[in-house]
Amino acid sequence: MALTEAGPVERTITGTGPGKSLAGRFVAGDTLDEGVAAARRLNEHGFLVSLDLLGEECHDRATAIGARDEYVEGLVRIHSESLDANISIKLTQLGLAFDESLAIDLLESLAHHAAEASTTVTIDMEDSRYTEATVRLYEKTQSTHGNLGIALQAYLHRTPSDLKRLMPLGGHIRLCKGAYVEAADVALTSGRDVDEAFATQLRELMGSEEVRPAVATHDLALVDLTRELARSRNGPFEFQMLYGIRTTLQHELVDAGLAVRIYLPFGSKWYPYLTRRLAERPSNAWFFVRSVFGG
Ligand SMILES: Cc1cc2nc3c(=O)[nH]c(=O)nc-3n(C[C@H](O)[C@H](O)[C@H](O)COP(=O)(O)OP(=O)(O)OC[C@H]3O[C@@H](n4cnc5c(N)ncnc54)[C@H](O)[C@@H]3O)c2cc1C
Repeated sequence: MALTEAGPVERTITGTGPGKSLAGRFVAGDTLDEGVAAARRLNEHGFLVSLDLLGEECHDRATAIGARDEYVEGLVRIHSESLDANISIKLTQLGLAFDESLAIDLLESLAHHAAEASTTVTIDMEDSRYTEATVRLYEKTQSTHGNLGIALQAYLHRTPSDLKRLMPLGGHIRLCKGAYVEAADVALTSGRDVDEAFATQLRELMGSEEVRPAVATHDLALVDLTRELARSRNGPFEFQMLYGIRTTLQHELVDAGLAVRIYLPFGSKWYPYLTRRLAERPSNAWFFVRSVFGG
């Protein structure tokens, strides 16, 4: 992660064919049209979709409003083209880093447009500087609009209490391991501890009648545990996986009649998203290194 934050590394990855081709594995394309086309193909193969317009940490009003407008366009397309899709958003894309009240207004506007398109909004969870504000804005907007969901990260020490705080609000809760580098006083740092925390929180979530659990992992052991817990669950639940990752597993789950939603990013601001995918699995970077250096 530290390496990818260096300017020259970013310029090499974003400015070269191999870098763009690496991003193409995880991102549908630069435009909404490309995102919609990929969503349609995924729907045809039995997948639900969550459209994610790439972008985060914006620091001016015009960019935040622009992101809201692009999402509204996406919601109009979801409705008019009868896509089985919702949207995933980041609150720092809507201005949370510099103006919380702007982020609330834009989030409420998206919840309203999503309701008109008969769909939902999922709030991604970003790094721990934003966790409390994200939970607070979700509470406020979900209690008035009722068509939202939120991602919670199993690795954060605070997540068990956030689960208790948010489950009574209904909606959907996306449980994921957590993708950001966090300090030990904020998050678990060993992979095994994170897996155990995920399993414990998953049991709680799958036991809830109010919430629609969205189990966001490609980890086979946790997928199997979910399937086992699903046997004694009455309500709906879904798996969520990232576009381009473990596609064979994605198809196997759909073929078994399970609901699988693909998180489908599109847009030109793909670099931070790509760096998180590289950090999760550094072997992804070898493809890029080999292409650039001809090895
Ligand atoms: C739908 C969805 C939404 C998410 N939303 C958020 C969010 O809002 N906030 C947040 O912090 N994190 C989010 N994440 C990321 C998540 O926190 C993890 O970083 C990521 O999913 C990897 O963890 P894993 O559960 O797949 O398990 P891992 O143990 O990391 O991976 C299990 C297996 O999956 C495959 N795999 C996993 N990642 C990759 C990769 N990048 N490239 C290739 N193969 C891979 C490998 O085969 C690996 O062995 C989301 C993940 C998903 C699936």
